This record gives sequence, C-alpha cells and structure tokens, in this order.
Amino acid sequence: LGVEAGAESARLAPAPEPRPRAHVQHKGSFGDVVVVGGAPGMGGAAWLAARAALAAGAGRVYCSPLDPAAALLDPAHPELMGRGTWWRSPPAELAAATVVCGCGGGGAVRAALPPLLAHAVRLLLDADALNAVASDPSLQRLLAGRAGRGQQTILTPHPLEAARLLGTGAAEVQSDRIAAAERLAARFAAVVVLKGSGSIVAAPGAKPSLNPTGNALLASAGTGDVLAGWMAGGWMPGREAHPVAVDAVWQHGRAADLALACGATHPLLASALIDALHAAA
Ligand code: AMP
Ligand code: MG
Repeated sequence: LGVEAGAESARLAPAPEPRPRAHVQHKGSFGDVVVVGGAPGMGGAAWLAARAALAAGAGRVYCSPLDPAAALLDPAHPELMGRGTWWRSPPAELAAATVVCGCGGGGAVRAALPPLLAHAVRLLLDADALNAVASDPSLQRLLAGRAGRGQQTILTPHPLEAARLLGTGAAEVQSDRIAAAERLAARFAAVVVLKGSGSIVAAPGAKPSLNPTGNALLASAGTGDVLAGWMAGGWMPGREAHPVAVDAVWQHGRAADLALACGATHPLLASALIDALHAAA
C-alpha cells in the first residue's frame, strides 16, 4: 500500500453504508454542486469533476469554467449546466452549494479563491487551488479561519501538492504519509485526503484512516478530478465532511478494484471511472 512508517496509527477505513433514496425525495433534496476550474486548455478536468458529482447523487451540478472563452455546456453531457464567473455570486448563493475548486484551474484559479474561502459553506480544494494556497499566505489565513466561521473544508492533495502546502519535499511527505496528512489537517483545520497508493484521510481531533481500496489502474490523467467531483456529489447539506471523504475515497478505489477483478490491465480512463463508480454505487 505504500504506507509503512506509522501505519499502525491509522485505522483501516470501513466500507460505506448504502444510503437508499426515499420515495418522496426530489432533486432539491440532494443539494447543488458547483465546480470552479478549467483554465484555458484544461477545461476537461472541470467537466469531469462535474460529471462525477452528478453520478454521485448531487441534485443539480453546475460547471463554472475559468476560461472566459469556454463553452457553458458539455454537449456530451447536457444534464450538466454551465455558469460564468460563478464565484462572484452573492454569499447566500455560495453558502447554499457544495463547491469544488481547482480542477484544471491553472493560475486563473487564484482570483476565484478569496470569495470562495470567505463564503462557501462546504468547500473542496484540489489541484491548482492547493498550489495557489501554498504560494499565498493571505489565502492560507482565509483557509485556516474557515472552521471558526462554521464552514467545512476538504483538501485533496497528491504528495507533491501536500509538499508545497507544508513547505517541504514530496519524498519527505511520502516517508511518513500519516504524519503529513495530520499536519495539514491541523494547520488548516480541514479534512485532508492525501492521495496515492494507500490514501490517508485525516481530520483535526480524529484518528487518521488508511484507505484499503484502489490500485495502479487509477494512475491516469483525470482520476483525481473524478475523485474531487465524486466526493462533492456525496457531500450534501447536513453531511459531515469527514465521513464523506472516507466513503468517497473507498468507493473510488473500489471501482478500480472491480475493474482489476474483471481483468482490466490498462489504466482506467477517467470517463470510464465515472461510469464504473456510478455502476458500483
Ligand atoms: P491525481 O494525483 O490528482 O491525478 O489523482 C490520482 C487519483 O488516483 C488519486 O485518487 C490517487 O489516490 C489514485 N491513484 C493513483 N495511483 C494510484 C495507485 N498506484 N494506487 C492506488 N490509487 C492510485
Ligand atoms: Mg490532481
């Protein structure tokens, strides 16, 4: 699993409980997700995350591209909606949705972060949003203050992104992944998913968990964007960030394990991973 040092101090994450839908529920019962990402040339990352959020059960999913020239529609997935510069929305709107920020975000994501960090009630930061935070102390202060304002945050760094946030190197993060995840969770008062073989989920004041599912079929472009979207889609109003993160990481890995058990030998394409997650859920 790639976790040796300190592995005994993490518990193995259990399989999620199924959450059946009640007959009277409608799409408004499952909350909205907005994905802010997709700088020029990287639009696909944001649309992948949006699609994964819908597959995970979000009621309505919006994609807000950071490329001003981008289309506000994915013709292959017309169930998704596009919105330009959504992060400038009034605080009440930011407080109503689960927001994913950073997938394919490039340098353009920096401008979106101050209002999102200040007002989004459920915020998941991935990829270039994490890189922007790592290089900007004012964003770090806004992030660390969110828990005190009753706002929940999930960070989903891979080892290099975690290293930038900690001001260290990826090799150091990998040498004690549990400690790195716990340090990030404490520093930013957030739930932290340190991705890779044997993903770690850490949260302030909680015992870290080691995810037992997943394999190298996931080592392919876009699978991290799918994880971010899938996690946000399950993070409905009223659900706590920590169990949401543990369950989503477990399911993401489990979909790859099922593909492996069916004989897959080539990496999973991120689009196919969404279909596999949807089918296995
Ligand atoms: P990213 O690094 O953002 O592209 O995300 C890649 C996703 O695939 C993360 O959820 C990783 O945990 C997962 N992943 C990549 N390689 C492996 C591996 N060898 N074993 C298990 N999970 C992996
Ligand atoms: Mg990534």
